[in-house]
Amino acid sequence: MTQHNRPSRRVIVLRRLLVAAGAIIVTVALVWGLLVMLTPTPASVEEAAPTATATPKPTATPTPTSTPTPTPFDKTAHSIDNPTSVWVVADKLRPLQPLDFYPPDLVTADVPYAANATMRAEAAKALERMFEVAESEGSGGMMVQNAFRSYDTQVWVYAGHVERLGQARADIGSARPGHSEHQTGLSADIMPSNGQCAVTECFADTSQGVWLAENAWRFGFHLRYPQGKTDVTGYAFEPWHYRYVGVALSTELHLQGILTLEEFFGLPPAPSYR
Ligand SMILES: [Zn+2]
Repeated sequence: MTQHNRPSRRVIVLRRLLVAAGAIIVTVALVWGLLVMLTPTPASVEEAAPTATATPKPTATPTPTSTPTPTPFDKTAHSIDNPTSVWVVADKLRPLQPLDFYPPDLVTADVPYAANATMRAEAAKALERMFEVAESEGSGGMMVQNAFRSYDTQVWVYAGHVERLGQARADIGSARPGHSEHQTGLSADIMPSNGQCAVTECFADTSQGVWLAENAWRFGFHLRYPQGKTDVTGYAFEPWHYRYVGVALSTELHLQGILTLEEFFGLPPAPSYR
């Protein structure tokens, strides 16, 4: 019986094994629990990651409409045929139409003058401003020798040239009636106040002539009969003759370095009458 009351050796070993196994399981469970507590959860990792909303949106790309594009000069913005247009081109092949055209809005520019300073209102205003700035920039005093000439006046002026010089030479220096830029009310012959080199080629070398050649374009004026262009314009070099064409055109001529209206507008050279 005592043999049955005392646990056998095998049972004791089993019990010890069970206790040891239990201790191992508990230890493993504790270590696992600790590890789980210390390891960051996947949720917190996701929170730390950058969110999708931070991605730049394609709407931020600049649109092509904001790119500055150079606009080509519109050579048809004003008529070159209508005598009331500031762009009218009058030369030996392009008489004014009508031949006895008379400008609508003539005024006398508020500047010193010899014969007259009569011009169309817009041209007169530009001329006044040009004289003012010229003097402030040290050009030396300037005055207008002659500006508007009517058809009837031109009949008389041209006849005088022919009488003195013969028709061939007269045609180089004076327009036939109906062909003169002075009849448009947009041209002025400018001279130094002291009368030096008035209406002669040496005006180009005076301080006034030099200033005008460099700066007249800023005020809408164009040297209409430049040196070396007699075959195109039909006239000898006239450094004193300035034609108002408006600032847009005078600036474009200046920027492109084009010296005559005929070349700019693609018109045939007009060295002589038909
Ligand atoms: Zn002139």
